[in-house]
Amino acid sequence: MSLLIENADLPGGRGGLRIENGRIAALGPDLKPAAGEARMDGAGGALLPGLHDHHIHLLALAAARDSLACGPPAVRDAAQLAQALAAAAKSMRPGGEAWIRGVGYHESVAGSLDRGRLDALVEHCPVRIQHRGGALWCLNSAGLAAAGIEAGADLPEGCEVDARGRPTGRLQRLDGWLRDRLGVRDAPPLGAVGRELARMGVTGLCDATPSNGASELALFAAAAEAGELPQRLRIMGSLDLPEPRHPRMTRGALKVMLDEDRLPPESELVDAIREAHGQGRGVAFHCVTRAELVMAAGSLERAGTGPLDRIEHASLAPPDAVEWLARLGVTVVTQPNFLLERGDAYRREVETRDQPWLYRGQGFLDAGVPLGAGTDAPFGNCDPWAAMRAAVERRSAEGALMAGGEALGPEAALALFTSPLDAPGRPRGALGPGEPADLVLLDRPWPEARQALCAEAVRTTWVAGQIAWSRE
Ligand SMILES: [Zn+2]
Repeated sequence: MSLLIENADLPGGRGGLRIENGRIAALGPDLKPAAGEARMDGAGGALLPGLHDHHIHLLALAAARDSLACGPPAVRDAAQLAQALAAAAKSMRPGGEAWIRGVGYHESVAGSLDRGRLDALVEHCPVRIQHRGGALWCLNSAGLAAAGIEAGADLPEGCEVDARGRPTGRLQRLDGWLRDRLGVRDAPPLGAVGRELARMGVTGLCDATPSNGASELALFAAAAEAGELPQRLRIMGSLDLPEPRHPRMTRGALKVMLDEDRLPPESELVDAIREAHGQGRGVAFHCVTRAELVMAAGSLERAGTGPLDRIEHASLAPPDAVEWLARLGVTVVTQPNFLLERGDAYRREVETRDQPWLYRGQGFLDAGVPLGAGTDAPFGNCDPWAAMRAAVERRSAEGALMAGGEALGPEAALALFTSPLDAPGRPRGALGPGEPADLVLLDRPWPEARQALCAEAVRTTWVAGQIAWSRE
């Protein structure tokens, strides 16, 4: 079975592209249809390589789609939070097992939360609310009871207790632990997310969740098998993460979360890096502060770097740090969408002298640091086109320009999302024969598409030559 896409806007000019057995068989201006071949009129639209979101959290994204928004812009103050929770609680049976799951909370809404403050809002059913940063959950008393989190129980580090040893309801970096505790019955369906991403032209994903292990792998494989997740998937996770068996899945880096307030000894990180390299994997360091970035670079320098090592976010990267990363040959995976989504908070909270180093674009490229991007959804908006626009415009939601010298052109912004799934930021060759047919056809030529960079331009998305989404 082959398909000829005719009259498309290809990098070399107008032409056709033939898909055969899941791969690009030929492309060029003079392709003639073979006898009996299926044909599609590209109508002059740009035919691009499929987009790769190099940093996303699929299960959290799917769960967020099922969750109550508890932060800006939907909920902005304590009264709105109380109202949203009361509305959700109305449909909950007292003493029932079902949870109210809130996401996107930020202190600007109603300050810091704990069980007492949540109990005052909802008492009769379990509630858990996730902070916008993703690392902190807060549970009410019914939630703590449902999860078996009680004073005197064997509680892990990160489960905050008060002076008398009573859990405060605040759980720090215990996402995976909490999920295990609540069981897979709590796992959200992935089909809607798979479809939504395919509609935006996304053909490959890298799941950057540190707690990924065998049970998450099984959920992803089941979703891929059922056709719910049409994308290729690279999966980061722990050192215990097994090698996936599904043909569209590969094992990615060891994900290491760094937290400025409790950095581990460097020797511990050096051992982890060497162990990951021994498994043929890279290491991906979560770094949002200057100190975290210095810690990651220092331990990579001591352990020795490999081509798969990467820094996630590198939110704050002063010139000396950028130079260091360039020397180490380490890749950065950035989130330009945060400039739009969080820019106004950064302008208030980040020191003025550090603001030029926030989510840099051109600065990394000039230094020769391979730069890829991911949306970090659900902690950011999962639309890669909105992220590309943000990389070009660098405007906060209120319209403030954020280090305008770091702006990328539309082609460089697109390249953040088209580099290979196993090598974000490394140059991707032009579309060529033999490559997997992971493609996006737009409804307009590139010179027009580059002006708007919008997901609405996507007409058809193919993964391995199969249609993953089509407007028709
Ligand atoms: Zn993330």
